[in-house]
Amino acid sequence: MAIERTLSIIKPDATRRNLTGAINAKFEAAGLRIVAQKRIHLSPAQAGKFYEVHKARPFYGELVEFMSSEPVVVQVLEGEDAIAKNREVMGATNPEQAAEGTVRKEFALSIGENSVHGSDAPETAAVEIAYFFSGLELVG
Ligand code: ADP
Ligand code: MG
Repeated sequence: MAIERTLSIIKPDATRRNLTGAINAKFEAAGLRIVAQKRIHLSPAQAGKFYEVHKARPFYGELVEFMSSEPVVVQVLEGEDAIAKNREVMGATNPEQAAEGTVRKEFALSIGENSVHGSDAPETAAVEIAYFFSGLELVG
């Protein structure tokens, strides 16, 4: 398996409840290394551009409003098969369908306020990492 990098976001519902450390502990326990991390407050325009792929979905407006409502922690996770592994640690989008022990099962409030984002493929991971981090910020 290849060493990959993926973009992760700890969403406003989780930063608000002081869960950054608890969520990071799950990533690290799964063998994912946090190789870059920063806390930022997205503008509606910045959140809207990040989630542009969902523009036509009925929840887009609500999603952009939520993601720009309070600070988020954006991070790059590195490890073997990191993209799929992170999706496993995150759990299903809807916390009611998320497996035991996953971040979303333990912490998510709803299908919208579901605590974490994770890239879904190598192409999207590369674009999403570059959206938030310069090469100089990725120290490995
Ligand atoms: P994932 O984050 O698991 O990759 P999607 O890419 O399908 O899920 O959706 C992006 C985000 O949009 C979700 O994490 C969630 O915050 C929000 N979302 C998805 N579906 C819904 C929905 N039916 N109602 C409200 N928000 C939603
Ligand atoms: Mg997605």
